[in-house]
Amino acid sequence: MKTAVWVVDPEQPDPQVMARAGSVIRGGGLVAFPTETVYGLGADALNTQAVRSIFAAKGRPQDNPLIVHVGAISDLDGVIGELTPMAEKLIPHFWPGPLTLVLPKDPAIPAEVTAGLDTVGVRMPAHPVALALLKAAGVSIAAPSANASGRPSPTSAAHVLADLDGRIEVIIDAGPCPLGLESTVLDVTGAYPVILRPGGVTAEDIEAVLGVEVQVAGEHNEVPRAPGMKYRHYAPRAELLLVTGTLGAVRQRIIELAQENQERRVVVLSRVDSAGDYPNLKVVPCGRRNDPDDVAAGLYAALRQCDGMGADLILAEGIEARGFGQAVMNRLRKAAKQTIRVGSEE
Ligand code: AMP
Ligand code: MG
Repeated sequence: MKTAVWVVDPEQPDPQVMARAGSVIRGGGLVAFPTETVYGLGADALNTQAVRSIFAAKGRPQDNPLIVHVGAISDLDGVIGELTPMAEKLIPHFWPGPLTLVLPKDPAIPAEVTAGLDTVGVRMPAHPVALALLKAAGVSIAAPSANASGRPSPTSAAHVLADLDGRIEVIIDAGPCPLGLESTVLDVTGAYPVILRPGGVTAEDIEAVLGVEVQVAGEHNEVPRAPGMKYRHYAPRAELLLVTGTLGAVRQRIIELAQENQERRVVVLSRVDSAGDYPNLKVVPCGRRNDPDDVAAGLYAALRQCDGMGADLILAEGIEARGFGQAVMNRLRKAAKQTIRVGSEE
């Protein structure tokens, strides 16, 4: 299969291009498209064969459920069973946006989409191209991130092409994704809300709307709350060691680790501000210090860049787990072989 790349304006995508992409989806094909979080790999959510081909193209384990994207609240009919009271409060605040709600599923949604669960993850994306695609397709779109399974999620069309060229029909290229990390996944089916995956909407944001405490599913839970949580995610090819703590101590430990591993191809994943702290080492700077949004936006591209440089050991500076920094640290911990804490917390 030849993969077509169609370039569109991120704010005002060409309606003719979007109409063609919509008919590829309706015809059972796969279209990679930008969202405000990362690029998604979309198929008609009600077409079992098309949904199966998402798993095949990505090499995704069958028991890792997909998120269903809707273009309007009225499109929830036929996707979810019913809105829970928590969902009713959250939707007006956070949709369209990076909040996926886990809700009881409608029987029409194929078991392949939800990995056999009786719940479905659903969200309305905020990116104009994603909304235009949903409108043009006229169906709900099941879409995981458009990377090969286990690789860092794609935040540009080039990342999608690197992983899925020849395996999908179309990539819609509208430039880099503004947020750069996946949506928050929130289970609102129980007595209290549970964050299954941290993302663009924080626990504090959700608590401010619901007025109740939000639980965060443990990063080291023995029993995964969502089937997909047990897999290694977001990982570069190289081994990654994450170093957290006070600034000076982190820098010193990274330099020591580089010296202990001189026979390996070491790359330091630093902040823009600290790139000059490692004079004799290869450095990939990612985001400004004290700006977690900036780090998030560049994180997956930086991990892919480390791989592209042939790194076999990445030494990564941690950031403060505050705001979007919670999601950044969640992804770095999952990508890391080991997290090393030095000095006190930043
Ligand atoms: P991705 O789109 O690649 O970010 O993957 C979607 C993720 O959403 C999965 O790995 C799950 O963690 C989560 N998810 C989707 N549907 C459900 C569900 N019904 N219950 C729990 N988690 C879900
Ligand atoms: Mg993914």
